[in-house]
Amino acid sequence: MGGTFDPIHFGHLVAASEVAHQFGLAEVWFVPTGNPWQKHDQQVSSAEDRYLMTVIATAADARFSVSRVDVDRPGPTYTADTLKELRQSLPEPTDLYFITGADALADILTWERTDEVRELAYLIGVTRPGHVLADPGVAPGRTTLFEVPALAISSTDCRERVARGAPIDYLVPAGVASYIAKRGMYRRVTTP
Ligand code: ATP
Ligand code: MG
Repeated sequence: MGGTFDPIHFGHLVAASEVAHQFGLAEVWFVPTGNPWQKHDQQVSSAEDRYLMTVIATAADARFSVSRVDVDRPGPTYTADTLKELRQSLPEPTDLYFITGADALADILTWERTDEVRELAYLIGVTRPGHVLADPGVAPGRTTLFEVPALAISSTDCRERVARGAPIDYLVPAGVASYIAKRGMYRRVTTP
């Protein structure tokens, strides 16, 4: 599951958990982006902070791990590169599923090297409130749209809450809220 995770929240975690259950996945790897080219117009927290928050959020779940492939690869993050690198680190007959939100899946046709992405992994688009789960027209058989329990949480809202002094308790794991407070993150709104 790729994402900016700035910060990771319970919407990401419930999506990963539900997909793992429904598709019988042995493991879910959270892959924080390095330099998200889709968000070049926004201030994004350091890759290290986003990586550490993701580790904190997933530490207690035996199915969940965090990969540094995107954080450590210089330059913009492209999904095809991410999947290639993950594929190389896995034993040969392993099926890869790329889990992403319905909003991001709808963008998939605008990504570079979409054919490569489709060859490397099955794509699973999960619901999120406020985004219609419409078939983005990706080749059938490789793409599944999947409903997860709706949690109207976004990282943008979490950042804005911190900036105005509102709580983010129960929107993000307690350890993530503590990390944000300790590091003084998001005290000012950084998105336009
Ligand atoms: P931002 O508000 O900064 O865009 P975000 O909450 O969308 O952050 P991302 O890190 O961009 O979080 O999301 C990673 C993936 O998780 C995306 O594909 C996104 O669609 C999906 N996602 C985010 N929030 C939810 C949610 N509440 N339910 C289901 N999927 C979600
Ligand atoms: Mg988003």
